[in-house]
Amino acid sequence: MDFSSLDPDGRHRAFVDDVRVFLAEHVTEEVRETERRTGDGYNREFYRALGSRGWIRPELPRERGGAGLDRIQVAILRAELERAKAPTRQLSTIRLVSPAIEQYGRSPLREQVLDGIARGEVCLSLGFTEPQGGSDVASARLRATRDGDEWTISGSKMFTTNGHQADYCFLLTRTDPTVGKHKGLTMFLMPLKIPGVEAQGIFTFSGERTNMMFYDDARISDLHRLGEVNGGWSVLRGPLDAEHGLGGMVNDGLDALPMGPAFLYEARDALDAALDWAETTGSIGDGAVVDRLADAIALSEAAYATDGASGRVLGAEALDRIGAELISLIGPEALLEDEAADGGMADFAYRYAQGTKTYGGAIGVFRTVIAQHELGLPRMELPGSRAFLTK
Ligand SMILES: Cc1cc2nc3c(=O)[nH]c(=O)nc-3n(C[C@H](O)[C@H](O)[C@H](O)COP(=O)(O)OP(=O)(O)OC[C@H]3O[C@@H](n4cnc5c(N)ncnc54)[C@H](O)[C@@H]3O)c2cc1C
Repeated sequence: MDFSSLDPDGRHRAFVDDVRVFLAEHVTEEVRETERRTGDGYNREFYRALGSRGWIRPELPRERGGAGLDRIQVAILRAELERAKAPTRQLSTIRLVSPAIEQYGRSPLREQVLDGIARGEVCLSLGFTEPQGGSDVASARLRATRDGDEWTISGSKMFTTNGHQADYCFLLTRTDPTVGKHKGLTMFLMPLKIPGVEAQGIFTFSGERTNMMFYDDARISDLHRLGEVNGGWSVLRGPLDAEHGLGGMVNDGLDALPMGPAFLYEARDALDAALDWAETTGSIGDGAVVDRLADAIALSEAAYATDGASGRVLGAEALDRIGAELISLIGPEALLEDEAADGGMADFAYRYAQGTKTYGGAIGVFRTVIAQHELGLPRMELPGSRAFLTK
């Protein structure tokens, strides 16, 4: 990795202070508590505040709703948002979908939506996965049927995170079931607050909310179509590869942390809490405890520094192992509901880890990526093997 472009100056140090003052004001205990309770990754008031500073897509020039930040400032902002435990998941969705809206959206909807995103008024969701499966994205069945200048959308999607509060869904539909599965797909920027769309909550072990979505002959204008009819696969490829952490990196040390290493933020919090527990209880004087804590810290650091498909797999597995190890170390007191010895951090890390093995692509699929693309092993004929293997 080339770090030569990393040359922070006084302006960057002042920017850190500016961001910290902003976050102290806006990431209130109430915002954090709501995030812990709902796991939404989105809070409209907070996003409006971010939008007022141009910090939702901060790299864009001011006239396009951004703040004209340089790459170091963008990296500072991202790191400080994570450190403050701000609800950031929506920012990742915006990063994935906005380029597709820019490239394939049509006026005036495109400008309205991009402007709304920049102001923090518009929330997006991703609608790829269906009840019958998610890894094999191109097998989508949800139907879009043309009727003049309108489309009727019918079927269901599984695990649409933020579907209950998002304004639009980046929706994958089947428009021609008679051709090869990658050929009969069309993408829409689907409005969700219209008749015929219903969200039912599904909660993970760690309390994150996602949704089953039902589309019951919901009617939308053709203006919501992104790209060509039956050309959805080309519209989807960029965002899908970006979600899977494949491609699009500048590799100067300032890219957004890929999904796998980003999971380690939770491990770090759990490790800090376990160290506090060890000091408070005096267990820090026990060499065996210190060894186990040191091993867990080493695993966390190794996973944090691993990128690509391996980082995706290791990030989820390290969080799982660290959570389990810390619970075993602290004992039953780690599991007390309101009075856990470490504030419930190990328990949360372990429960949170279970979802990380699945969303944004199941880690079994990433093992296939490692096998085929990094180790050059022969291709396996599995249902999802053509989902996003780009090479
Ligand atoms: C909390 C949460 C939030 C989510 N949010 C969203 C969202 O906002 N939008 C959205 O569209 N989806 C979302 N998902 C769905 C997620 O992306 C899918 O669950 C994931 O892609 C796997 O799909 P599946 O669950 O249908 O498993 P399947 O595809 O049925 O896979 C089952 C098992 O088979 C293995 N497998 C399948 N294909 C292969 C292969 N080629 N190589 C090796 N192993 C393979 C997998 O590893 C997995 O263990 C979310 C999921 C969760 C749990």
